[in-house]
Amino acid sequence: MNIRIEERLGLVSIEVDKERHIKVETSICGECDEKSCLHFCPAHRFTLEEGKIKHDYEGCLECGTCKFSCHRGAVDFSYPRGGYGVYYKYG
Ligand code: SF4
Ligand code: SF4
Repeated sequence: MNIRIEERLGLVSIEVDKERHIKVETSICGECDEKSCLHFCPAHRFTLEEGKIKHDYEGCLECGTCKFSCHRGAVDFSYPRGGYGVYYKYG
């Protein structure tokens, strides 16, 4: 079944922290031809706008994939502060 990202994110609730829990060093991204982050993030938080990588931490599912899959080490990942971040809805 093909579920759109908006519907997938509807299965979670997120308490957005005003502090970014993920930082992307975009100066490194400029030298990255693969831009694999456009594909590996399950929440599609990485986008390409006018040739530049943008990262939107709101809506992040905290899977950590970007920390380990950005082969250039451009992603600084940490979890949000206590009380913030993603909550998964069960049942
Ligand atoms: S894969 Fe890493 S270095 Fe390449 S564009 Fe994405 S975040 Fe930047
Ligand atoms: S932690 Fe996961 S969901 Fe969040 S930005 Fe990184 S790859 Fe995307």
